[in-house]
Order: sequence, then C-alpha cells, then structure tokens
Amino acid sequence: MEKIKMQTPLVEMDGDEMTRILWQMIKDELLLPFVDLNTEYYDLGLVHRNETNDQVTVDAANATKKYGVAVKCATITPNAARVKEYDLKEMYKSPNGTIRAMLDGTVFRAPIVVKGIEPCVRNWKKPITLARHAYGDVYKNTEMKIPGPGKVELVYTAQDGTETRELVQEFKGPGIAQGMHNLNNSIESFARSCFSFALDTKQDLWFATKDTISKKYDHTFKDIFQEIFDAEYKEKFEAAGITYFYTLIDDAVARVMKAEGGFIWACKNYDGDVMSDMVSSAFGSLAMMTSVLVSPHGYYEYEAAHGTVQRHYYKHLKGEETSTNSVATIFAWTGALRKRGELDGNKELMEFADKLEKATIETIESGRMTKDLALITSIENPVVLNSREFIQEIRKTLEA
Ligand code: NAP
Ligand code: MG
Repeated sequence: MEKIKMQTPLVEMDGDEMTRILWQMIKDELLLPFVDLNTEYYDLGLVHRNETNDQVTVDAANATKKYGVAVKCATITPNAARVKEYDLKEMYKSPNGTIRAMLDGTVFRAPIVVKGIEPCVRNWKKPITLARHAYGDVYKNTEMKIPGPGKVELVYTAQDGTETRELVQEFKGPGIAQGMHNLNNSIESFARSCFSFALDTKQDLWFATKDTISKKYDHTFKDIFQEIFDAEYKEKFEAAGITYFYTLIDDAVARVMKAEGGFIWACKNYDGDVMSDMVSSAFGSLAMMTSVLVSPHGYYEYEAAHGTVQRHYYKHLKGEETSTNSVATIFAWTGALRKRGELDGNKELMEFADKLEKATIETIESGRMTKDLALITSIENPVVLNSREFIQEIRKTLEA
C-alpha cells in the first residue's frame, strides 16, 4: 500500500511523561505505517525546554504561525517540585500559556462520544463543545478588604489627566470590594475565534452573559459579539445553515441540560472555567476530551485536554504495566491531519483521519478499552488492555 503524502509540514510538539510514551506508540503503530508523515518537530519535553531556556516553545508557536496547523503532546507546567526533579534553571511558564498568548487564541474542548460511555445527562446525544474566553475578569482582578466605614470608588484617569468616578459603595462597616476589567481587543478575538470555529465545524454557536444585570460590562461582550456577527459572519452562517444564539447565562444553563448537544457554547472566563469541568465530567472522562486552540488569524493547535498522566509514568518507569487511555491524543493527531488536509486540498489525508477516528471508536464499542473506561462503561465484560495493546487493537481495526 502506498503511503499518503503530505504537501505541507505539520508542526509537531512533543511533550512529557506518559503522554510522551503514548506519542511515540501512536506514531509507530497508527501513523507512520500509513502516512508519509511530514512534520516539523519541536521537542517541548521539559528537558529540552530547559536546555533552550524555553526558546523551543516560542519557536514552535512561530512555526504554527508559519504553517497554520500544529499538534501538541501534553507537557509539564513546572512548579517547585518539578524545578527540583528536573534541575531547572528557572520555573518556566506553562507552554500552553505561552503558545496561547502568541497565537491570541481561544481553546475549544469537546468530548469524544462513544456508545457504552454514556453521559450522565440522558438526553445528551452529541458532543457539547465549550469555548472559554481566556483573558481578564476575575482572573486579573484587584481586591480589597474594607476594614470599616468609608467610600469605595472606581476612578478612570484619562491620558490628559481628567478623572471619571463611579461610586462602588458607601461602606457603613467592614466588607470587601473587587475591581476587574476586560479589553475590547480580546473580546473581539474571542468572538472571531468562536464564529470561525462554528463555521469550520458546522455547529450552532451559543453565547450567554448576564447583561440584564451588568449593563455595561457584560453588555459590552454581547454587543461586540453581535456587531462582529452582523458585519462579518451573518451571511456565512446562513449559507452554512447554522445559527448564532445569544441568551442570558441562567437561561443557557437550563437549555443546555435539556438540549441534545451538537453545538458550541461560548463562555466568559469564569463561566467557562466552571462549566467546562461540569460538561466534561458529565460526558464521562477527561481522557476522552479533545482540545483545540483556534486563533482569530486562522491558526490551529490540537491537543488532548488531559495532562501528562504523571502517576502512570512513574509506574511505567518502574517497569509496571500501565493502561493509559490514548484516545484524546489520537484525536489530537486526527484533528490536525484533517485540518492540514483541508487546507492543502488533500482528500486522502482527511479520509485517513476519519478512518482512524472510526477505528478508535469501534475498538472501544467492541468492548476493548483501557482501564479508566472499563470502570465506567455500560458494556458488559469489557476487555481491559494495557497502553500498547489498546493502540495495537486500534491498528487491527483500522487495517480491517
Ligand atoms: P493528568 O495528567 O490529567 O492526570 C490526572 C489523573 O487523571 C491521572 O492520574 C489519571 O487518574 C487520570 N487520567 C488523565 N488522563 C488520563 C489518561 N489519558 N488515561 C487514563 N487516566 C488518565 O493531571 P496531573 O497528573 O494533575 O498533571 C500531570 C502533569 O500534567 C502536570 O505536570 C501538569 O502540569 C501537566 N498538565 C499539562 C496539561 C497540558 O499540557 N495541556 C494539562 C493539564 C496538566 P489515575 O491516576 O487515577 O489513573
Ligand atoms: Mg476549572
């Protein structure tokens, strides 16, 4: 069989620990036998990040800007323990944070739905994709404990020195106060990423805030979304047969519970933090969650939503058997290969991505899976496979 050719390189970002082990297995068993893999390789493993003073992360993000599509393995975000463990020169920032800042992107997370791993919400039939705005609000706030009676105000000092004041509260006794902000630029990027991704995946887009109460802050989010939609996306949405739907956040929450899925839910930063954990755990497993960073300039970076699965890696190092789920990492590859194929007009590559996803789902639905899924499946007597066996079973399904 002739291998599928790729015209343009895919940016490949290798990572850490157990997911680094899975990364190589996936390439060896599921990709290299079928695809003449054309990647520009960046080793974002912590050892190499340390050797390059984290320059490799910046280079990888720049390569993503050059080629448009990247696939990333999970990486360690160093903390004090990691600085010691890896003898790091400094406590480097999260690679995902660095890349997101450089690409100005929004992260979309979606569950991989398979029969036998049922969502807790009975009527959810299709995935719900969550888009979280990743800038500002309470995550960049300024807080104060107010010790006793006094006045708290918001003060804006313009460049010419003129001041505008708004009273927050006339305190009669002790309390607390908080100031937060957001930027029109950031909200505009967020809106464009959401509209583009909805068009890309042909799914409706929902967005919700509390604009009835927050008449300036939240209302600005609502207005910016609507202005950009009307000016740039309305006709494209009509042509694609999808809709943009705005509602209040409490109404959105109620509707999500009654919906059957198959849409994108755009959330402000805090709502996205809370709702993404709710939606992902209701769908079953972090190991079955994909994640893609979409920039408003049209760059895409695909990855798994979970981390490097440290505990399994330490078992692996001791020579013990692991049963680590590689599905989200496989789907990161298929997502990236399909997008590369789409941009290059490479139908074979797109079809390969579809087939590999299908083979992965079929393998699980036939009862062959890793331990994490075996614990929650409704399929009777599942066959529990180790990390490598599971990938090999997928290969058998793919070849069949
Ligand atoms: P984690 O790697 O997501 O794993 C947490 C636990 O979830 C695991 O111990 C395991 O539970 C279960 N799990 C997650 N993925 C699994 C999979 N594919 N198959 C089976 N079980 C899975 O989070 P962590 O252990 O808290 O973090 C480890 C490292 O990952 C940290 O250094 C963190 O900085 C990094 N991280 C990176 C990213 C990223 O690159 N995007 C995201 C998050 C975290 P059991 O142990 O009970 O089996
Ligand atoms: Mg959270």
